[in-house]
Amino acid sequence: MYRMGDAKSEAFGTNAMLQPAPVEKIPQGPTIPSVAYQMVKDETYAQIEPRLNLGTFVTTYMDDYATKLMNEAINVNYIDETEYPRVAVMCQKCINIVANLWNTPEQNKWKAGALAIGSSEACMLGGIAAWKRWIERRKKAGKPYDKPNFVISAGYQVVWEKFATLWNIEMRQVPLSTEHVTLDIEQALKMCDENTICVVAIQGVTWTGLNDDVEALDAALEKYNKETGNEVCIHVDAATGGYILPFLFPEKKWDFRLKWVLSISTSGHKFGLVYPGLGWVVWKDKKYLPSDMSFTVDYLGAEVTQVGLNYSRPAAQILGQYYQFIRLGFEGYKEVQYNSLQIALYLHDQIAKMPEFVNYSDEVPNPIVVWRMKPEVQKSAKWTLYDLQDKLAQHGWMVPAYAMPVNIENMVVMRVLCKQGFSRDMCDQLINDIKSAVEELNALEYPTTTRIAMEKNVPLKRKSFNHTGSKK
Ligand SMILES: *Cc1c(COP(=O)(O)O)cnc(C)c1O
Repeated sequence: MYRMGDAKSEAFGTNAMLQPAPVEKIPQGPTIPSVAYQMVKDETYAQIEPRLNLGTFVTTYMDDYATKLMNEAINVNYIDETEYPRVAVMCQKCINIVANLWNTPEQNKWKAGALAIGSSEACMLGGIAAWKRWIERRKKAGKPYDKPNFVISAGYQVVWEKFATLWNIEMRQVPLSTEHVTLDIEQALKMCDENTICVVAIQGVTWTGLNDDVEALDAALEKYNKETGNEVCIHVDAATGGYILPFLFPEKKWDFRLKWVLSISTSGHKFGLVYPGLGWVVWKDKKYLPSDMSFTVDYLGAEVTQVGLNYSRPAAQILGQYYQFIRLGFEGYKEVQYNSLQIALYLHDQIAKMPEFVNYSDEVPNPIVVWRMKPEVQKSAKWTLYDLQDKLAQHGWMVPAYAMPVNIENMVVMRVLCKQGFSRDMCDQLINDIKSAVEELNALEYPTTTRIAMEKNVPLKRKSFNHTGSKK
């Protein structure tokens, strides 16, 4: 049949729409932009609506002005500082603001820190700096520096496994247990020795939503370092907590007010309220940032050091972050985080009232709710939380169920991130959907495949959702 198949055709009347989309080879000829747009867009239709993705920690809502600003900067490469010096200055202002939120003692006008694509890059940079400082100390003392290690709770995010593997640094894991739901400090210190480059403390553990006790760790390390002559410091992985603690719990000491906390990283694209990817790492003082990790630029009217694993990277997130700082201010951030935490507390209460479930912890220090099935209920139930996850997905929600890390890996939990954009009304809708799903599941006559697998203790072969915080 004759068809024009050109720009005058209706998109769905074109030849291109009769063709399969390219999988292996670039198409021979061009396609009209409107049709190409439609094809690409349509491939994403079946995906979850980002704001219903309660598994992710990452921002899924920003207001129209932020979105406009970021879209308008989509063609700016951050690394071209000579061409875009204002963006570089804006980035430094953000580093200053973040450093001050974390009570930096640094006196230099421009605080020592770095832009990152997310917490992963920021954690890497913090870890590498600690490693290099340790190498320097070892060299000075004439001691070997080929067996570095770091200590972290088994509730670590996968980036620390990458850090250990890529740089060949031994990761010493402190197991979580039902008594020690966060970093067991006594155990952690037992794992430290002269080769320990740092202890990583987590604020907002991805698996549980809890915070390691950094103040107690700092006190314990002070004593340990005095006794041993070692200089084991702390890197705080504050991917979540970095933007929660300063606003909601300013009196809590977890940051640069503590002696041994020498670097902190966070995700600007989590509770920093910016779309992905944005992260920050800050050092307590310029002297803790090894000079060979950074290069110096002086267009800010002062010598400024820049550090990073990536070279080219988008600048739009910096505009988004600076906008949020100006738009919200301290009080505005506090309001947003307060609401998220209140909604988390509400959900936590509602979950506690359901006879099937028990919360992982009574404490909700971050807007993260983690629960599991009561062991006695699980025994007789014909379903698991994996089935509940599937049921909720039918209503558009992404609420991941996952097994906990080593030592408590038989515990399956479910997690909801209460972020900006998740209102009390949406939370009520979720709760209703959970209740009706549970009702249907309780009425099952035969056990589900995940329940049978659990019984046989075989690992579940499930299509895994890559929720931030899960190990592969
Ligand atoms: C999310 C997270 C990371 C990784 O952060 P990205 O920003 O996704 O790279 C690292 N550590 C913790 C504790 C996290 O929650």
